[in-house]
Amino acid sequence: MSKCLVTGGAGFIGSHLTESLLNEGHEVTVVDNFSTGQNSNLSRVEDHPNLTLLTGSITDQTLLTEAVRGVDTIYHLAAAVGVKIVAEDPVRTIETNIYPTEWLLRLAVQTGCRFFLASTSEVYGKNPKEKWTEEEDLHFGPTSKPRWAYGCSKAIDEFLALAYHSKFGLPVVIGRFFNVVGPRQVGNYGMVIPRFVDQALNGGPVVVYDDGEQVRCFAHVKEIVDCVATLTNSDAAVGKIFNIGSDQAVSIKELANEIIQRVDPAVQIKYVEYSDAYGKNFEDVRRRVPDVTRLATTINKKPQLSLGEILDDIIAWKKSL
Ligand code: UDP
Repeated sequence: MSKCLVTGGAGFIGSHLTESLLNEGHEVTVVDNFSTGQNSNLSRVEDHPNLTLLTGSITDQTLLTEAVRGVDTIYHLAAAVGVKIVAEDPVRTIETNIYPTEWLLRLAVQTGCRFFLASTSEVYGKNPKEKWTEEEDLHFGPTSKPRWAYGCSKAIDEFLALAYHSKFGLPVVIGRFFNVVGPRQVGNYGMVIPRFVDQALNGGPVVVYDDGEQVRCFAHVKEIVDCVATLTNSDAAVGKIFNIGSDQAVSIKELANEIIQRVDPAVQIKYVEYSDAYGKNFEDVRRRVPDVTRLATTINKKPQLSLGEILDDIIAWKKSL
């Protein structure tokens, strides 16, 4: 049994990770300020004797110092996420994503913790390759386009984590998430699947940005948190970066049609310009597909659920609300 800290533990991915760690018999401290996380995400475990919930911001150094006491593993998931937040509030993105990570890494060195850093496929920017291995170049757009602030901020986190590994021997593992989806994900911050499912359940239209030919890979959060916990506890993963996601590619237009077929085939698709959705300075990523060979060979597993199975689960959850 270990004692874990999950920053962002009331968030979408964080709450699934917290639940899974508690189910495996670990003690878990959650730090969350409920800015994008929600109390209800932890409702299934809120009375669990091994859960400690600290409400506050990861920018609060005193709180972080208290949170790491006695902890042997830190899962650092708290961040400003979602294309919408990042486009609308770049200052918050940078402040939330960079300074607290450095502070936590310092605390981890002092206490000798294992450290999982949640990073993102956004660090590849708009790299034009078909599939991205972890060693690809980062292709960010200009600093005048706020979208890139998110990927850049997480790339700095990665540099920091790797530097703490090489300088202080801190056992860090870095995971780059690719479009993680599932129950509890909300559409408010731009995430496509909860938005499409809500739109379809409300009779439509389903609003696809641009021409819908942009490509993504969607992985179920249950499988993602399993990979995260396994990787973090694997000695072979220490000091390395991993793509964590599905490698089953689908266009956003195909995704819209899959959801429409499942919810109500009469629903229509409406196409809108990016500029109408995110403002004129927005740039999207056309294609985002991970190479997950490193993940699969290191821990002998990778996300496997099909898009159909994932959508059925999310639609059932939405209907149950
Ligand atoms: N998207 C869309 N309609 C929406 C929200 C998103 O067509 O209501 C598109 C978006 O432009 C992007 C893809 O769906 O190409 C995935 O968007 P999301 O924000 O979920 O993730 P990310 O852009 O980070 O991959």
